[in-house]
Amino acid sequence: MKTLRSYLGERWVDGSGAPQTLVNPATEEPLAQASSEGLDLAAALAHARSKGGPALRALSFAERGALLKEMAKAIQAHRDELLDLAVANGGNTRSDAKFDVDGAIFTLQTYAEIGASLGAAKLLVDGEGVQLGRSPRFHGQHACVPRRGVAVHINAFNFPAWGLAEKAASALLAGMPVLSKPATSSAMAAHRLVEILVEKKVLPEGALSLLVGAPRDLPALLGSQDVLAFTGSGDTGMRIRALPNIIRESVRVNIEADSLNAAVLGPDAGPGSDMYETFLKDVLRDMTQKAGQKCTAIRRVLVPAEHAATLRDDLAEGLKAVRVGNPALEETRMGPVATGAQLADVREGVAKLGAEGKPAFGSATPLGDKGFFISPVLMEFPKDAFAASVHAREVFGPVASLLPYSGKGTDAAAIVARGNGGLVSSVYSEDAGFLEEIVEGIAAYSGRIFLGHPKIEMSPGPGTVLPQLVHGGPGRAGGGEELGGMRGLAFYMQRVALEGSRPVVQKLIGSQPS
Ligand code: NAP
Repeated sequence: MKTLRSYLGERWVDGSGAPQTLVNPATEEPLAQASSEGLDLAAALAHARSKGGPALRALSFAERGALLKEMAKAIQAHRDELLDLAVANGGNTRSDAKFDVDGAIFTLQTYAEIGASLGAAKLLVDGEGVQLGRSPRFHGQHACVPRRGVAVHINAFNFPAWGLAEKAASALLAGMPVLSKPATSSAMAAHRLVEILVEKKVLPEGALSLLVGAPRDLPALLGSQDVLAFTGSGDTGMRIRALPNIIRESVRVNIEADSLNAAVLGPDAGPGSDMYETFLKDVLRDMTQKAGQKCTAIRRVLVPAEHAATLRDDLAEGLKAVRVGNPALEETRMGPVATGAQLADVREGVAKLGAEGKPAFGSATPLGDKGFFISPVLMEFPKDAFAASVHAREVFGPVASLLPYSGKGTDAAAIVARGNGGLVSSVYSEDAGFLEEIVEGIAAYSGRIFLGHPKIEMSPGPGTVLPQLVHGGPGRAGGGEELGGMRGLAFYMQRVALEGSRPVVQKLIGSQPS
């Protein structure tokens, strides 16, 4: 069995102790093992800070962008191999695997272009300069510089390639070295991705490290110039935030956590309309793509009460056609969930939803005797659902809940808000009054609002995170923000206000793009 080693201090190193076994979630066949026990994490962080940081800071944005372009090229050259690993170790269908690996490539390319557009600058000018005194001589200007520590990235199991790349793209372009820790259960694709970059010597020494296996005390080793970007469950996020060093050293932390994303069908988009068909397609895709294990997947489906029965039947028909099985087979449309623990969690979540709602399609009974398979599950709730579970518990699998509402924008917004903050809400309507009402009502609770429309060609739906737009959300979603084009760099940089004589300040910042 393959042993996944960590890449720390510019060396591939083995952990000691009892390793964790990574399996194929479709067959439960053991594929690899990993352990982080005994690894010197403090030394690895010190190496990244002392070697990777200075090497990256010596480069301009355009030069760092060129590194990202090379990373994208190297990954592209090994795309098929990475897709195979995502299928075997992640339970992904080939199309799910492409979503992960191609997403990684596209995000790196996007940030490479941002780097190119920033040119020879090493310091990022932030906004216009301001006159501070009576005369223009006393001048102020904000600028951003890379932080001097290491960017630690802890990722969830569902996007091993994209998760690594999307975080690394912003950090490396900003000028910070990265230590990436993928979730152990699905780490094979992330491990191979780093192997490829190391083999090709794409990055300067110390710029990218990899920890495979348990995080151990990694977050507790961070100091004031370091940052920690975490994606995973709200519970783990809470534990990280509460660590004494994180509080004492004001370590910058970004949390991307749970989300009860809602999709709202407008009162004007009745069955048979193109808008209704778009909505139906997006809900079906989100429920089954990656077996529903997308942080942005639609969990709550809001439908005007008069159309609820039709939508339920249409969704049930669509779900019936989804072939669940081994993702390595071409005819399979939905693979298993990622681990046995994940399957147990999904079953428990469906049982909780079942206490207040009733199943309209599927059940939480596992399918087959090998692998972590479950059918898609659609739960149905009464109108204006005051049920607690549907707004409180994210069931991270192929599960969604149907919630009929009055058809009024304010009522739909109030239901969406019960989720206490989410990554993405989506609305399907062309009624200007309804759109205004609902967007006004949900914007403060959403990181992103997707306005579905049948005329958007090749629409990726609300579940796709685009690097040009921010990813993150308030409240339950962790309160974090990643990506968003240039905005993604801010987390990795210190904003400093320069004030002084105008010619001196202007000379310091040079002719930087603002
Ligand atoms: P998890 O158990 O919180 O694990 C996430 C990551 O944290 C893994 O790499 C895990 O390592 C690590 N970890 C576990 N305990 C830790 C600790 N005490 N200190 C530091 N790191 C620790 O979450 P998961 O079950 O993998 O992921 C599912 C959850 O992630 C879902 O709730 C989903 O909503 C959320 N998610 C959110 C987003 C988003 O962008 N908002 C994206 C994807 C997923 P090991 O694997 O080694 O245990």
